[in-house]
Order: sequence, then C-alpha cells, then structure tokens
Amino acid sequence: MSEIDDIRVQNLTRLYTIMLLNTSKSATGYSILKRLARDLGKTASPTYVYDFLKMLKAKGYIKDVKTSKTKRSKGYYLTSSGKEFVSRVLLRFNNLIELSIQSKIKICASCGVKLYEDYYTEKIGDEELNFCCTHCAKAYRSEYHQK
Ligand SMILES: [Zn+2]
Repeated sequence: MSEIDDIRVQNLTRLYTIMLLNTSKSATGYSILKRLARDLGKTASPTYVYDFLKMLKAKGYIKDVKTSKTKRSKGYYLTSSGKEFVSRVLLRFNNLIELSIQSKIKICASCGVKLYEDYYTEKIGDEELNFCCTHCAKAYRSEYHQK
C-alpha cells in the first residue's frame, strides 16, 4: 500500500488513539475517550474518535474482540497490519521531529511534506500554519473544525 492512501495521523487525538491501541490488549471507543480526557486533559469529540476507529477497522488495522456470550463489542485490538501501520506512523513522526529540529525546515501542517520557497500560509484557530497547497489547508481546516 502506498503512503498516499494510508490513513493520516495528523493530530494528537489520532496519535494518542493508536498509541493506546498499541499498548493495550484491547480498547473500546469509550475507554479511549476516557483516557484522552484523563491523560491529555482533552475532551475529544466522540464522533471523531468513533469515525477514526471505523476508518482503522475498514482498513483492517483493528478488529473487534469477539466474545462468545454477548454480542456486544468488548473493544478493538490491532491486527498485524495495524501494528505495521503504527510503526510507520511513529517512524514518520520521529523523522519529522528530527528534521524540524535539525534544519528548521517548514513542513506542511496537513500532509507533512517539506516546504521550500513556495508555500501557502493560513491562520487557523489562533495559529499561523504553513501548507504546501490550498487543498492541504482546506483538509486541515475541516479536520480542525471537527475537533
Ligand atoms: Zn500538504
């Protein structure tokens, strides 16, 4: 699978969600929301978290924990391709952090590509952000308003 069709993890809610899935045996959307609130002091939108879990499930990165007695979901766990996805994301984050420290290169806040002379700046919330193009700014803006 190419990087382009992969699920993007571009905010703390998504990053923390996959980290929790990576360190727990299984996690429900509800437990993830509770941990986000407790550990990050952040109230994430339940719809946002559940939609992200749905995306992960559709990609085959997570599966429901099956219980024989009840039909209710006991949570999700990472599949082996899900674990590979988490490694890819963490590697990318590490690379981005290193890059930005080493060379102070600006990166697109939406897709993470390096920005040279030509880039687009937009104020979102109360932050001036840099993007490679207006499409990325638009994508970021719609994500931002969902949070
Ligand atoms: Zn971009």
